[in-house]
Amino acid sequence: MAKDKEKSEGQKLQDELSFSFKHIGQIRPEDIEPSIEFCEGYKTFMNSSKTERECVRTLEAMAKKEGYRLFDPKASYKSGDRFYYVNRKKNVMLVTVGKKPLDDGIKFNIAHIDSPRLDLKPNPLYENTEISYFKTHYYGGIRKYQWGTTPLAMHGVVVLKDGNRVDISIGENDDEPKFVVSDLLPHLSAQQNKRPLSDGLKGEELNIIVGNIPYQDDDVTEPYKLMTLKLLHDKYGMTEKDFTRAEIEMVPAVKAADIGLDRSLVGAYGQDDKVCAYAAVMAAFEIKEPEHTTVTVFTDKEEIGSEGNTGMASRALDHFVEDLCDIFGVKARNVYRNSICLSSDVNAAYDPTFADVFEKNNSSFLGHGPVLTKYTGARGKSGSNDASAETMGQVIACMEKENVIWQIGELGKVDEGGGGTIAKFMGDNDVDTVDLGVPVLAMHAPFEITSKLDIYHTYKAFCAFYR
Ligand code: MN
Ligand code: MN
Repeated sequence: MAKDKEKSEGQKLQDELSFSFKHIGQIRPEDIEPSIEFCEGYKTFMNSSKTERECVRTLEAMAKKEGYRLFDPKASYKSGDRFYYVNRKKNVMLVTVGKKPLDDGIKFNIAHIDSPRLDLKPNPLYENTEISYFKTHYYGGIRKYQWGTTPLAMHGVVVLKDGNRVDISIGENDDEPKFVVSDLLPHLSAQQNKRPLSDGLKGEELNIIVGNIPYQDDDVTEPYKLMTLKLLHDKYGMTEKDFTRAEIEMVPAVKAADIGLDRSLVGAYGQDDKVCAYAAVMAAFEIKEPEHTTVTVFTDKEEIGSEGNTGMASRALDHFVEDLCDIFGVKARNVYRNSICLSSDVNAAYDPTFADVFEKNNSSFLGHGPVLTKYTGARGKSGSNDASAETMGQVIACMEKENVIWQIGELGKVDEGGGGTIAKFMGDNDVDTVDLGVPVLAMHAPFEITSKLDIYHTYKAFCAFYR
């Protein structure tokens, strides 16, 4: 009060009329401890969810533990019932039935669980000069030069000739071997250094070293390649032809870790967008008796444009919603037009080292809470879902009612680049949608950085939205 008296008229008017976003650590220091606590579970989640399939398995196990049952389209459901549906092992929908009729609308929260990586080509194995290699085809937007000399783990699935499926995971445990793409030594990189950074390593140079000991038989023409095949056959019963029936993803063999002396940050692979997925699943668990039915979706293929039947461009979610409508005897179009959706995806955090690409007044900052992104896209908002003022108002009101610290953010300066999310696909479904998610440093790098305070407040925002 005493301080207030000292303020001039202008200062008072300024307090009344102006607005600025602040670091949570400054205005809500009591949230530091709970944020650190919350992220212990997050790190564990990340370590068991390197790929979309693994993330689905993790989510399914978590949901079962929380009492969710597998969706049965022939069952009848009532308020408070919780169930889940898995689409082709790569896409999960978690439902909590609300008190209100379904055609009062659903609260959707959608995060994606695929992340940029190096996929093996369908015919990946070869040897060159006594080294056995895998050829790769990168998935999603990567800066290729970052993937050289990064320890990699091999994850995936192979369908054998007899139809049996084998899950592959090599390189996550300390006693397991890793894999690596080589890069030139500085002594011989004079020519490579002249390449633009985007070609620092080229797509066809992302070749993964898998072996360097020959199979002992002088009559074999490719003994290094054969040795790799033998080892894979011993472990998984697979042959070279089985690569054509496989999905194998090479991802950074790195565990989630605290970053900084103050442990304020999390470093991990694939935080885009499993950081929002974790906040979303924890919020879904927390809100047990929502007014509106909640549908929390964990989707695949966002990083390549949401294509395919496990991505949001497909009708998989529509079909699931139609199933729900049949159960409750309502029309899907009435459900959709009364629904609201958070497209929960990360945004680029302001990076002081690369300040040039950001416009500071409209950037998101580490520690300022979840970023509400009105529109994404490129150039003149092309490819964007431009959320309405009303939708912004509704989501901001939810957050402020529960003291969530949030911020706004654009993805960099106008015409600097751009990107998209799943928001536009929910817009296509006639649903009011806006992007809300965690700001990330070094997005799409093998090791991405987020703030624990942001993760915690994103969780709080999702809870407030569902409540
Ligand atoms: Mn994303
Ligand atoms: Mn992304």
